[in-house]
This record gives sequence, C-alpha cells and structure tokens, in this order.
Amino acid sequence: MKQAMNRRRFMFAAGAGGAAILAGSIIDVAAADLPPVDTSSPQAMALGYVDDATTTDTAKFSRYEAGQTCANCQLYQGAAGSESGPCPLFAGHAVAAAGWCNSWVKKPG
Ligand code: SF4
Repeated sequence: MKQAMNRRRFMFAAGAGGAAILAGSIIDVAAADLPPVDTSSPQAMALGYVDDATTTDTAKFSRYEAGQTCANCQLYQGAAGSESGPCPLFAGHAVAAAGWCNSWVKKPG
C-alpha cells in the first residue's frame, strides 16, 4: 500500500517536472524562432531601437546612458545569457540582448 502511494507521488512529481521542462522548451523554441526587429520599421525608428546600444543616436535619444542594453531592461524576456529575446514592445519579434530603445527601464535586482 505504502509502495503504491510512493509510486503515485513519484508519477505526479515526474509529470509536473516534465510539464515544466516542456513549457521551458516551448518558450525557448518560440524565442529562437522569432525574427529580429527590423531597425528601419516605423516602430523601431519611433522608439529609437538599435540592435547595438552603443550606436544609439544620443542627439535624438538623450535618455540613453552607456551600459544600458535590452539584456538589463525590465521588459526583456530573453533567458539570461541569450543573444536575443522577446520584448512586449515588439511583439512577434526578437530584440538583441545588446540592443536598446527609448523605453528602456532598469531591471530590478
Ligand atoms: Fe530593449 Fe527594453 Fe526597449 Fe524592449 S523596452 S527594446 S527590452 S530596451
């Protein structure tokens, strides 16, 4: 009886873990499949998005400060260490971890 309970608990735990791994994989695949933001698109131009933060036009976008990148922006949804990832401001596209836009907000922590 006790053995059956342990097996049931194991199956539940394995199932929950498997679901978490599967969800993680789907998110990774989705992020990897996103096309990069077209820096010449109207939205990118309006927000001053560049895929290399150091090339920000500081005359136009004076909020930029050295060291700010998508990777350390609160809105960046890429995994730690990723080269690119989703950002809600550019739905369906990936922003570069090294990128920047005028909506940059410091990631807490
Ligand atoms: Fe990058 Fe943040 Fe701008 Fe999104 S909001 S493009 S993550 S700087």
